[in-house]
Amino acid sequence: MGFIAALPAILWALIAWLYPEWLTQIQLPVPGAVSVGLGIVFLLAAFFRQWHWFYWCAWVGGSYATIQLGLQQPLAQKEVSQLYQAFPVWLSVSALLLAFIKKPTLLTLKGAFLFIVVGILPLALLLEPVANSVATLSPVELLTLPDWKDTGLAVGLLLWIVAMGGIWATFLLYKGSSSFAWSQWASWLALMVFLLVVDHRDASTWASVAAVIGLLLALADQMLKLAYIDELTGLPQRRALVSQLQHLRRRSAVCMLDVDYFKKFNDRYGHEVGDQVLRLLGSILREHRGFKAYRYGGEEFTLVFSHSDPDKLKSTLESVRSKVANYPLKLREPSRPDSKRKGKDARGKKDAAKTVKITISLGATLKEPGDTPDSILKRADENLYSAKKSGRNRVVLK
Ligand code: GH3
Ligand code: MG
Ligand code: MG
Repeated sequence: MGFIAALPAILWALIAWLYPEWLTQIQLPVPGAVSVGLGIVFLLAAFFRQWHWFYWCAWVGGSYATIQLGLQQPLAQKEVSQLYQAFPVWLSVSALLLAFIKKPTLLTLKGAFLFIVVGILPLALLLEPVANSVATLSPVELLTLPDWKDTGLAVGLLLWIVAMGGIWATFLLYKGSSSFAWSQWASWLALMVFLLVVDHRDASTWASVAAVIGLLLALADQMLKLAYIDELTGLPQRRALVSQLQHLRRRSAVCMLDVDYFKKFNDRYGHEVGDQVLRLLGSILREHRGFKAYRYGGEEFTLVFSHSDPDKLKSTLESVRSKVANYPLKLREPSRPDSKRKGKDARGKKDAAKTVKITISLGATLKEPGDTPDSILKRADENLYSAKKSGRNRVVLK
């Protein structure tokens, strides 16, 4: 899902590669498209308190400004080429540092300093001596064999983009990274690809717009997650459930599920262990087939079925119930050994984790004509109450 934020940059790279003539033919209608886009990301990021987004906006903005000024200045041909040799070095080093090094909070002195440095430092490349010395590290030179030099294509740069982009993307895929992490990769790719088609001068705007759209998509994805996904269990939460219940099919069923004696469990093992149990329950429910699970709130979950076959329903619910009831939860002993004797005993079996079990009660109901989200949930809840009253660790379907 996070990958979506990388799509604009990939699309841009494909266009730059396959249809470079478009870059000059189609002018962007809004000259300040990049500034407007960046402004929107800044506003949204501030509104939702996603401060770490600011560094990347500064990075895109600073790089774009450098490119624009570099193109406008009446520099000699050689100086322009030095600037564009130095630029991939700045883009790659700063992007990797910004993506992988722990950053300070923005609203601190250090954070503000980093923000300003990221935005302003690339402008130093407009100074000839700086550009000259940074350019000595350029992959354009380092990776290019002498007999490739006449081809006119920056083969070294291309190799570098493919190698670094490939390794970085593999890492992101492997880690199942967030859309924000992908949008960082995407802004880097978008600007690097511009350097491959640097003769099409308007292309820098296209590249930056692709980077900004990636950031916007990542921000939108993050907002959706904040609104709809429960952080502890990773399941969609009540808001998502309500919108799903409004579009329930004619044949469907709903089940309310509640952990038994969970208050006692928390009292005995602590709230943190309780949270671990909820996380585990979340993953059991997510991986079980046959329904979509939501965290209703607290230690209550809701399952939504897209069929209304009572036998099938009952067997799925029984399978969930017994899976949870038989799942051995491994706990480390919360209390330290309080006497020397006990300590001695405990040391011998350091890794012997204590196993406990929990049970759940389930109340399910089939959809009836004229049901509203409230009415169907209320019936499921009544059945859950019956399951509790008749002894817990059981399924009631009426
Ligand atoms: P019953 O079998 O009747 O459901 O008993 P119960 O103790 O589970 O029911 P009750 O509704 O009285 O208590 C629910 C408890 O769940 C209260 C609270 O301590 C615990 N709980 C709710 N949300 C969370 C959470 O996010 N984390 C943890 N650790 N505990 C939670
Ligand atoms: Mg409860
Ligand atoms: Mg309970």
